[in-house]
Formats: sequence, structure tokens, C-alpha cells
Amino acid sequence: MLAIDALRERVISELGGDLLVDDHAAYARDDGALGPFPPGLVVRPREAREVRAIVDLCRALRVPLSPRGAGTGTVGGCLADHGGLVLDLAGMDRILEIDERSLLATVEPGVITARLQAAVEARGLFYPPDPASLKKCSLGGNVATNAGGPRACKYGVTGAFVLGLEVVSGAGEAMTLGHRSIKGVTGYNLVGLLVGSEGTLAVSTACTLRLLPRPSAAFTLLASFEGELAACDAVQRCLLSGLQPAALELADRTCAKVLVESGELAVPVPSDARALLWLELDGDEAGLDAAIRRAGAICREAGALAVELAGDADTRDRLWEVRRALSHTLRARWPKKVSEDVAVPIGRLAELAEAARASGERHRLDTASFGHAGDGNLHVNFLYDPASAADVEARVERAVAELFEATVALGGTLSGEHGIGIAKRPYMPLEQPNEVRALQLALKRSWDPAGILNPGKIFP
Ligand SMILES: Cc1cc2nc3c(=O)[nH]c(=O)nc-3n(C[C@H](O)[C@H](O)[C@H](O)COP(=O)(O)OP(=O)(O)OC[C@H]3O[C@@H](n4cnc5c(N)ncnc54)[C@H](O)[C@@H]3O)c2cc1C
Repeated sequence: MLAIDALRERVISELGGDLLVDDHAAYARDDGALGPFPPGLVVRPREAREVRAIVDLCRALRVPLSPRGAGTGTVGGCLADHGGLVLDLAGMDRILEIDERSLLATVEPGVITARLQAAVEARGLFYPPDPASLKKCSLGGNVATNAGGPRACKYGVTGAFVLGLEVVSGAGEAMTLGHRSIKGVTGYNLVGLLVGSEGTLAVSTACTLRLLPRPSAAFTLLASFEGELAACDAVQRCLLSGLQPAALELADRTCAKVLVESGELAVPVPSDARALLWLELDGDEAGLDAAIRRAGAICREAGALAVELAGDADTRDRLWEVRRALSHTLRARWPKKVSEDVAVPIGRLAELAEAARASGERHRLDTASFGHAGDGNLHVNFLYDPASAADVEARVERAVAELFEATVALGGTLSGEHGIGIAKRPYMPLEQPNEVRALQLALKRSWDPAGILNPGKIFP
């Protein structure tokens, strides 16, 4: 009997057939371009005890196990490229606790990010991490990828909010790691190790997250520029001004053109805009009005063609909705989009934007860059029609490699937020030398001796 068939029988007899999901096609892809990789088995546990039992069975039968949250990842992290079992954590979606006095929440991994945000906001609290996919992605996935979002500019990425984790390691140990206090330095920072480990070391079954008091107000403006260089200059000036923007998001000339043509921007934008900057300030309402006008003045000093303030909450929401939808807007316009999420020290942002455009031009490809300018993190997209020329895919590959080389030369990193997964695995040696990768693989062996969790991912 094949291991996967034996596993199916054991799951049915030991945990019950109702945990099995029949439709495997929905699990063959994530939101990236890789796949299809149909899994041999999909299991949807309801509680941590079942997760542990499934990990034990996979280890005993040597079946690869890929944890999956909401499948919005873009690098193939949750895909069963080695076959085996997909562990669908969407069924574990209870908000277990919101402790208002201690400013923390404990959730199961399948809770959708926006759902937790709404739940805590209803109590006057705030969970800042806001990946653009927040209406679909899960908190377990956010922890596993250390997801960021526009508000990372002021508040930091998911890892800054993870106090504790309940996990089942690849070795089958169920453990509670971290703490419920804001501070805690007892022993090694194992929570820090697991955050961003892309499901290669352990499966999280509960996450204790730090909350903040909800800011009483937020103001957003959209500034347009004649090019990316002026917009990057505005980013620098705003960051150094002491204004502490909650978000500073850039869109390059391709994005600006698409958005201006679409007419979807909720505020007027000049037709010759070749770069856009979203800037948000939040905090106490008193004083914010003057601060946002100062931010507008800074943008004008950097050469903004226009600065428009979102006058009400509805306009503000629509402005951010357009920004969050940008990835899918581009995808709808070009037959194929290869998307990278490189990050550099913020002082090198303009050079990164320039390097991205130059690598596209060298290889005769359309490019579109947008993203978290305040963190030096850009989503660089190569846009093309795969049917346009026999060599187009090879040109894209060269453009991607050159982008990564330029990023590392600028002191940057291959991935600011999406992770490495399968997609960026071949490029790891560009950024990390052999000894650093070997140390991480040794850690992998100690957490997952049988190598069942997301085998072969991250490391080439
Ligand atoms: C339109 C769009 C916009 C996006 N914008 C952003 C953005 O602004 N910032 C950002 O950071 N990302 C962004 N992403 C990428 C993606 O949404 C994030 O990486 C997100 O954190 C993935 O969550 P998920 O629940 O979908 O995880 P999945 O895609 O299901 O899995 C991602 C990884 O996490 C692992 N994993 C999932 N759950 C667990 C668990 N419980 N235990 C252990 N491992 C687990 C998987 O094995 C996999 O390696 C975007 C994606 C899309 C499609």
C-alpha cells in the first residue's frame, strides 16, 4: 500500500473521515504563478490535538506535510510540490480571547486578519499589521511569513506583535513558546525563530498577539509626482520630518498610468502623474489636521504636482482599497505577471526603483513597481505576454536575477514580506553564504528530524 493511502486510512480510523477534504484542485495553487501541485490528501483539523495526531502520522509514514492558511501566499509556500498532505488550518478559526486590560488577543491560526482587526476595533483596540490581502489571509499564515503591510512603516511587521505561540513541531512536540507579557527574555527567542519560518519547523495552533489602543483618527493624502525620483525624495523628507507616517506607499509610472486611466482613484489626479504616494498619519485627532497639512507641504517641496487629502472616511477607504487591489489590477491588464518583493535600506529606495525599471528595459519587458516605500520594500512586477516571443520567459528569468543581484548589491534582501517558498529558493545563495544556510538546515533537522514539514522549501 502507498504511504499516502495508508495515511488516509489511519486518518479515517483514528480521527474520522469528516476531516478529509475531497476537492484537492483548490489546493494545487496559491496566489502566485507556481503549480498546479495537487496534494495526495487534504485534511482539515478542528483542534490542536488533531494537528498533533496528523503530524505524528505523517512522521511515522514519511509523508510530506504542507501547512496551509488561506493560500494567499505568492511563493508556493503552502503547495505540496513534493506531493503528500496539505494541512488546511482554515477550520481552526476561533478568536479564543481578547484581553482588554493586558492588550492581547489569542487566536487560532485560521482566523482571517481583517476579522481580528474588526473584533478588536469594536473594543477600542488595534491590531496594526495590515497585509494588502488582509480580507483573505490568515493570522497563522501571517505569522509563518512574518507578513507586513503599509502600516509596518510606523508599527512594524507581524513579528513585532507576536508574544507567544502554541505549536506542534515536526518532531510532534506540542509546545507553548514565548510569553503573555510585552517583555520576556527567558531563554532563546524561539518565537522569533518560528515567525517567518514558512511552516518548515512547526505548525502553529494558536497565536498570542499584542494589541494597542486604537488611534482616534487617521488622515490620508495622495500626492502625485512627475516621476519616481521626486516621490522617493518626498518619502525621505517625510521620514526625516518627525511626522512618523503610519503608511507611505509608492506607485511607479506604470501603476500611476493604469490607475489614472481606470478613473478609480477616489481623488483627482493630474493626467501627467508618473508616480503616486499614499501617506497616512494616525493618532489623536487634535494636531493631526496640522500634521497632515505639513506632510502635504513636504510633498510639494519635493516637487509634487498635486496633493489631495481624503476628506472623509469613505474616500480614505476607497483610496486604500485601490492601493490594496493594485496587484490584481495589474494582473487583469497583462496576460502574465511575475512579482518580486525586494527590500533595501530606505536610503537606497530610489536606486532600487531605478534598477527595477532598468532591468525591465534591458530585457524589453514592461515593469510596474509599487509598495511600502517607507520600509524600502517594493513589489517589482515584470509584465508580459508569454505568447509574444519564444524567448520571453528566458528574458524574464534574466531580469529577475538581475533585480535580485542589484538588490543585494544595494544592501537589500530578496524578500521583504512574501518569503522564499519554492519561487525564490534558487536565489538564496545570492544573499546568504553556505555557512548561514547550513546553520538554518541544522535548526530544521532539530525541529523536524524526519524532514516532513514543507520539505525542500526555502533552501536550494
Ligand atoms: C493581493 C495580495 C496582496 C498581498 N499583500 C501582502 C502584503 O501587503 N504583505 C505581505 O506580507 N504579504 C502580502 N501578500 C502575501 C500573503 O497574503 C501573505 O504572505 C500572507 O501572510 C499569507 O497568509 P495565508 O494565510 O494565505 O498563508 P498561506 O498562503 O496559506 O501560507 C503561507 C505560508 O505559511 C505557512 N503556514 C500557513 N499557516 C501556517 C500555520 N498555522 N503554521 C505553520 N505554517 C503555516 C504555509 O506552509 C506557507 O509556507 C499578498 C498576497 C496577495 C494575493
